Amino acid sequence: MAYRKFKADFLFTGNEMLDGNAVLVTGENGIVQTILSLGEAGDDIEILNGIISPGFVNCHCHLELSHMKGLIPEKTGLVDFLLSVIKQRNFSADIIQQSIADAEKKMIENGIVAVGDICNTTDTLSQKNQGNLYYHNFIETIGFPETVAEQRFQGSVEIFNQFAQQYSLPIESNSIVPHAPYSVSKKLFGLIANFPGNHVLTIHNQESEEENKFIKSGDGDLTRLYKSLGLDISFFKPTGKRSLENHLPHFYKNRSLILVHNVATNEEDFVAMKDEGWSMTENTNPTIDHRPSTNLFFCLCPNANKYISGTLPDIDLLIKHNCKIVIGTDSLSSNHQLDILEELKTIQQNFPHIETKTLLQWATLNGADALQLNDVVGSFEKGKQPGVVLIENVIDGKLTGQSKAKRII
Ligand SMILES: [Zn+2]
Repeated sequence: MAYRKFKADFLFTGNEMLDGNAVLVTGENGIVQTILSLGEAGDDIEILNGIISPGFVNCHCHLELSHMKGLIPEKTGLVDFLLSVIKQRNFSADIIQQSIADAEKKMIENGIVAVGDICNTTDTLSQKNQGNLYYHNFIETIGFPETVAEQRFQGSVEIFNQFAQQYSLPIESNSIVPHAPYSVSKKLFGLIANFPGNHVLTIHNQESEEENKFIKSGDGDLTRLYKSLGLDISFFKPTGKRSLENHLPHFYKNRSLILVHNVATNEEDFVAMKDEGWSMTENTNPTIDHRPSTNLFFCLCPNANKYISGTLPDIDLLIKHNCKIVIGTDSLSSNHQLDILEELKTIQQNFPHIETKTLLQWATLNGADALQLNDVVGSFEKGKQPGVVLIENVIDGKLTGQSKAKRII
């Protein structure tokens, strides 16, 4: 068997940053064999400049919206963003398919190996079946009035069944998920929670403070969304609670849940989560990498947040509460690119004290854990095939504005 050996200035393993003395050994196909020291590794080492990392895991994408690249105005806030997306119709099937193929190709070039992808249609199925990336398909359900719950859920079950029957990866690679706390009724939440085989779930959470306001008191800018859509929401009773506290009880704790965005998540939410029995242990020593025993993941999509509202989540708060953080790009309707490294660079610019090693762990091993793909991707452990990515233009092992990811295997 032919081996490939790689060495760079740093080797990030998935949870550790090793120095230039470490050599990664893989098979031709990229299956990890071992990590050796330079002295043990022998000849034929490919010497690279930068950080070698396992491939990135994109925990939140909407590949089927790729044709909306550049069409939606920036920094309008959530309600106008959603209204703009809803208005974009009448694209030909050819344009939709070509945009999906182009976007996937870019993700591969940018070092992404696995994707948690929101699906409202089966538009992405044929591209996914080419087997270029691992996908977890989150079949998304939307329906705020209680009266449409059964019908909307049945529509999602039909899409789920098409993925279950036709997608080349195992049936566990698909689940039915709620869109957001302000667009899914209690009844619909119940149908989703009890759908057999739903192992990994996700929801857009607290993308804007308006969500908390609406769920708590029934007013604020979100009411403009329902009005514009002609939806009678007189059935909705304000809960007196913030959004997260209100929707978490709709999920079973033994299933993985990826909360996406978390822009308006604050200290109060963590108090509520503890009360709900989600084991958020306070991280009193941030230099130790705790791995909390929870199935709860917090997905950051900072470039989409900048695009839509210009506000970023309180990432220091998430770190303080020892959250398992993962990274997503969201879609090309709210991002200029599907590039995980660009998300990490935005975080580093705004939170410069977070170590590169920590950022890379969010983008690799944590993402693989969240999508339950950690037996194949996320780290350089023997037998995995996580992809080999080179991050160029780093200074002293830190990302810079010029850093770029390049797929090696
Ligand atoms: Zn999204």
